[in-house]
Amino acid sequence: MTTHLVWLRNDLRINDNMALAAACRDSQANVIALFIATPQQWQQHHMAPKQAAFIQQNLLLLQASLAERGIPLHYHQCDDFAASIDYLVEFCQQQQVDALFYNYQYEINERERDVQAEKRLDAQSVICQGFDDSLLLPPGSVQTGSNTMFKVFTPFSRAFVRRLHQSLPECYHAPKARDGAPISIKKKIPAFDYPCEAFDETVFPAGEEAALKQLRHFAKQAVQDYPDQRDLPAIDGTSRLSAYLAIGVLSPRQCLHRVLKEHPDALNEGKAFTWLNELIWREFYRHLMVAFPALCKHQPFVDWTRNVDWQQNEAHLKAWQQGKTGYPIVDAAMRQLNTLGWMHNRLRMITASFLVKDLLIDWREGERYFMQQLIDGDLAANNGGWQWAASTGTDAAPYFRIFNPTTQGERFDKQGAFIREWLPELKEVPDSDIHQPQVWAQKNNKKLDYPAPIVEHKDARKKTLDAFERARSAA
Ligand code: FAD
Repeated sequence: MTTHLVWLRNDLRINDNMALAAACRDSQANVIALFIATPQQWQQHHMAPKQAAFIQQNLLLLQASLAERGIPLHYHQCDDFAASIDYLVEFCQQQQVDALFYNYQYEINERERDVQAEKRLDAQSVICQGFDDSLLLPPGSVQTGSNTMFKVFTPFSRAFVRRLHQSLPECYHAPKARDGAPISIKKKIPAFDYPCEAFDETVFPAGEEAALKQLRHFAKQAVQDYPDQRDLPAIDGTSRLSAYLAIGVLSPRQCLHRVLKEHPDALNEGKAFTWLNELIWREFYRHLMVAFPALCKHQPFVDWTRNVDWQQNEAHLKAWQQGKTGYPIVDAAMRQLNTLGWMHNRLRMITASFLVKDLLIDWREGERYFMQQLIDGDLAANNGGWQWAASTGTDAAPYFRIFNPTTQGERFDKQGAFIREWLPELKEVPDSDIHQPQVWAQKNNKKLDYPAPIVEHKDARKKTLDAFERARSAA
């Protein structure tokens, strides 16, 4: 009997999992699965303790789903990628594995690990098959007329949709139960040797069932309101599926097909398309990371921005991290991040802009801090988002476009409903003054347990413009 091994990494699901589906195609094969935890590598990626806990819980559920289908999930923990390759090779020998199936990861170290692993296994005559599973379309498959990667999103998105019109990527069913299923679980996935922190299970219930339920609900109704509500953080107007997509509990193909089932016209603009276009942003940043691997090393895409004279200011960085800048929308957002491990997209833009353009702090500090907190931390999307906000990335906000944190708050949280949810110390402040509570306190002779703004936006803006202009002329 041949033995097929599925090496699970960022694809913690049984539905629409290309590697798993391919491994199970031969109904006679003995199929086993393996997950190797690499805490040292996670540390290097600054993986958030909440994300680690989310992975662990999802793995436990996945182990049960696989066992029902007669597929044992083995688990091993080792320090780094080199040790994980050694273990994989040894495991394949022990289990007499004939073929390895895995889904690609596109970060530079992960790709290098896979190349090395394939080389070693090839020498042992283990057949290796990799799959472009975490994307709708493989990197490199959507290119400009001169066969290069797009550097601007809108034409990328248009070309992407044209490709989807030509042929839709298919969804793969969960594998059928193997002979002898179900099997008992000999050893449950243990706790990781990595800091794990409880996450809010009412907001992010673990498991594929929960993710699919959320997707079904969102695709049926909320996707129609998405264009009007997606920028309003007080409203639950976005899908909140990013945590599942980031670790592969859900696939983008499942998202696409579900939306098309409910709204068959969704690829032809319209309301549901607005949401699909966000999934295309996700693809854009991943395709970019493959085309420009230096992004994985946190290099700016726009070269001259290396010359920006960033400020080192520990007190300002701390105030931003803790949500104590004196700008209510920024502080409420940071507290949402610190509590939930998730932040609304509009607020990610506002807080990122504040760190870079008001405090003139290097965007990499913010990128790192977000990764340390986010349950949906994803190198490509996070790097893309930060470089967009910092004006250092491809198709980024121009450096002279600087968000005013007060007017952003007034625009997207008019009555301050979101601010009040996260800043209870401002509950006394009337709606009309919620974005400048210090002015209200002074006018009314009140004492607020809330800081004064740590910088004056107008001055900060000027300082940043000067710094960017100096950097540009020095190039
Ligand atoms: P929805 O609005 O429902 O969007 C659906 C899905 O599309 C998301 O789940 C996500 O997978 C994808 N998506 C949406 N917007 C973007 C975007 N701008 N770029 C890439 N993918 C997108 N997203 C992450 O998944 N991980 C990150 O680490 C991350 N860091 C970010 C950092 C900054 C500074 C910024 C500005 C954005 C970042 N984003 C990141 C993108 C976006 O903010 C989140 O994907 C979104 O807020 C997740 O909420 P949702 O699932 O409700 O999104």
